[in-house]
Amino acid sequence: SGGGLIRCNDERIYVSVRLRPLNHNEISSGDVSDWECINNNTIVYKNISLVSSERSTYPNAYTFDRIFGSECSTREVYEKGAKDVAISVCCGINATIFAYGQTSSGKTYTMTGITEYAIQDIYNYIQEYQERDFILKFSAMEIYNESVRDLLNVDNTSLRLLDDPERGTIVEKLTEEILNDRDHVTRLLSVCEAQRQIGETSINERSSRSHQIIRLTVESSSREILAGNSASTLSAIVNFVDLAGSERASQSLSAGTRLKEGSHINRSLLTLGTVIRKLSKDRNGHIPYRDSKLTRILQTSLGGNTRTAVICTIIPSHSHSEQSRNTLLFASCAK
Ligand code: ADP
Ligand code: MG
Repeated sequence: SGGGLIRCNDERIYVSVRLRPLNHNEISSGDVSDWECINNNTIVYKNISLVSSERSTYPNAYTFDRIFGSECSTREVYEKGAKDVAISVCCGINATIFAYGQTSSGKTYTMTGITEYAIQDIYNYIQEYQERDFILKFSAMEIYNESVRDLLNVDNTSLRLLDDPERGTIVEKLTEEILNDRDHVTRLLSVCEAQRQIGETSINERSSRSHQIIRLTVESSSREILAGNSASTLSAIVNFVDLAGSERASQSLSAGTRLKEGSHINRSLLTLGTVIRKLSKDRNGHIPYRDSKLTRILQTSLGGNTRTAVICTIIPSHSHSEQSRNTLLFASCAK
């Protein structure tokens, strides 16, 4: 990574891990971190007593494109873990940035910052790039119980997915706002945030089950009229995805919770795991995009000539170590 502003020919999924600081409650209850970042790429599970008894289930050291320790700012996570992928939308390449992790591990905290920084950078880029005219469009949706809702529209109806021969899956009647300026983005982001909190008794309960997608479309055309040159217009989308809590995809449910599996397990999240695993092995094989709403909606910006970054968030405390290790196994499969 690093180097030029836009990395246009790297199809790998860029996978990073972010640890959040322990919070006040965790510290005061005597919880301690089980994890040590030994360099920028490697994280080690340091609870030796558990390691020896569970050795067959989980590895102890995990290597990724980047590890962000609990002292790292969201700005740093963005610059090193998401910026190249986000900015590639300006040169016509579809991109997706995910936050994956258990509830309360910092997905929303991380994605909110990344989305704001990325949109600022996209604005900076198009202001400097005088050779083309740009149009930016903004939309936002939530997937909850395999039902899609427009976060820019107060009416609560569920939106249908349609197959378009040219554009792939489209979300019918999804609001698309043409952006006027940077303040407009800020206003729309707060509308989404408010919308996401409507209609549910517990915000945490809902966000642990739902996926939020903020989508920016960047269209541009060359200012010089080049007769017969179809490459003079470009259109691409970048998705910022705040996923449901990864405990919704956990394979290791105890016998007692198995009865509730239907409502507990999140189909879109499970399918996303399969899609990402298959993409990282063989991008040209059969990829089961059609098995969930989330993967259908994201199909045109996953796989093929697209850019993907996954930021896996973990709670470093001992009491969450099993979920953290599940998250790291997911992250390992994405590489
Ligand atoms: P999630 O979306 O994964 O459920 P949140 O983003 O809501 O988790 O984070 C849970 C809490 O932890 C929030 O109060 C958030 O402000 C805080 N938090 C998360 N990550 C960090 C961080 N890196 N630094 C400081 N506070 C954080
Ligand atoms: Mg959240």
